[in-house]
Amino acid sequence: MGFWWRPLSVLASVLLVALILWAGSGWIAALGFLAGVQAFVMLRRLWQEFRLARWLENPDEVDPPDATGTWGDIFYRLQKLQRRQRTSRSELTSALEQFEHAAQAVPDGMVILNRSEQIEWCNPASRKYMGLDCERDRGQFIRYLLRQAHFLEFLDAADYSQRLVCKSPINRELTLSVQLVPFGSAQKLLVARDITDLERVDAMRRDFIANVSHELRTPLTVVGGFVETLADAQELPATETKRYFDLMLDHTRRMQHLLDDLLVLSRLEGDENSLKDEVIHVHDLARSLKSEAESLSRGRHQVTLTLDSAASLKGGLQEIRSALSNLVSNAVRYTPEGGEITLAWRERNGEGIFSVTDTGEGIAAEHIPRLTERFYRVDRSRSRETGGTGLGLAIVKHVLTRHGARLDIQSTPGKGSTFSVIFPAQRVLQPREPASEKDGDNVIPFRERGQAAG
Ligand code: ADP
Repeated sequence: MGFWWRPLSVLASVLLVALILWAGSGWIAALGFLAGVQAFVMLRRLWQEFRLARWLENPDEVDPPDATGTWGDIFYRLQKLQRRQRTSRSELTSALEQFEHAAQAVPDGMVILNRSEQIEWCNPASRKYMGLDCERDRGQFIRYLLRQAHFLEFLDAADYSQRLVCKSPINRELTLSVQLVPFGSAQKLLVARDITDLERVDAMRRDFIANVSHELRTPLTVVGGFVETLADAQELPATETKRYFDLMLDHTRRMQHLLDDLLVLSRLEGDENSLKDEVIHVHDLARSLKSEAESLSRGRHQVTLTLDSAASLKGGLQEIRSALSNLVSNAVRYTPEGGEITLAWRERNGEGIFSVTDTGEGIAAEHIPRLTERFYRVDRSRSRETGGTGLGLAIVKHVLTRHGARLDIQSTPGKGSTFSVIFPAQRVLQPREPASEKDGDNVIPFRERGQAAG
């Protein structure tokens, strides 16, 4: 009613004036007055329409014309409408920008396909995984761009509950999991996720289970075979029986060692097993490792200990002991009789280096990068003969990684190897100042040498 009130009251006033004129001056004067008003209204209307048309040509840049009366009302309403549109347009633009940013940040490749499987949109990750380019490939049929047979079959099947696992068409090193998600009116969202790491972990898990089963099967078969023989045999000479029991004991020990190493590895991998920060007196540890080497060697090697640093270490004593003990045991096991084994502790540029050097069979260069893999052995039968499980260096690597330390392997086939554990400076503790030397542990003579008994 607000809008109509003004024009109706103006009309009523004009008619009233016309009536008064008619009554006072006759009908010609009244008609003349009405014609004048009509002409004025028409001219004013033409003028306002002209202003409105001029404004509508460029409504975003020019303010709407101002006017009074009905036209003022119309312009005011148009301006309100224009403001509301501007606000919703800027809200829409910022929502679109946010979507665009989110789509750019998504690590998965995403492609929107229309009902004819033409590309409508794709994000930057789809270039990395599928070689698509949003600008270049918009409107292209996806089938013409990705032509692998299994991908085309996957598209044809249109089974949205299934995922396709395939190699990336532009990088064979990448494994992708591709999924189709229907949405809107017959559109589809194609999502490609990089599952290379997952696949690798899965392959490692499968290999690991196969390896453990294989490692356990041989000794179990041997022990089972002897038990059957002993059960079936009526009477066996005592020497023969003893030989069987010795062999069974050997194989049982092998299984025991394997399970022990597996338990150590799983304990190291467990999250709850937080790293201890004990003070490790390396000299004591080195002496005890030297004794261990001598007892393993049983006089077949010459064992030497060189202590060129008085520093201690910070870390888990049991873990470091088990890692270094593995290196010592390997040196003894892979060094023929008469060889030399040297344990050494020194510092270089603040780092602590514990090395185990042997004059054994050495390792060819191509094997060195793989030695810390689980169950990787250069010579499987040699490892088994000497009681190896193939897990020793994997344990070493785990322990060192937890301590921020690294393993360096230098080896020459036929001459020998040096396995050096390099501890970072923050794990190396310098001996205390003279005031606390009464402690005893810190006053250590440099360069101590010892030889294997026998
Ligand atoms: P294993 O129980 O078989 O010794 P490790 O993980 O300790 O397993 O070592 C992996 C492989 O590395 C061994 O099988 C062996 O071939 C090689 N290796 C390790 N230490 C030495 C060494 N000191 N000299 C020669 N080869 C070694």
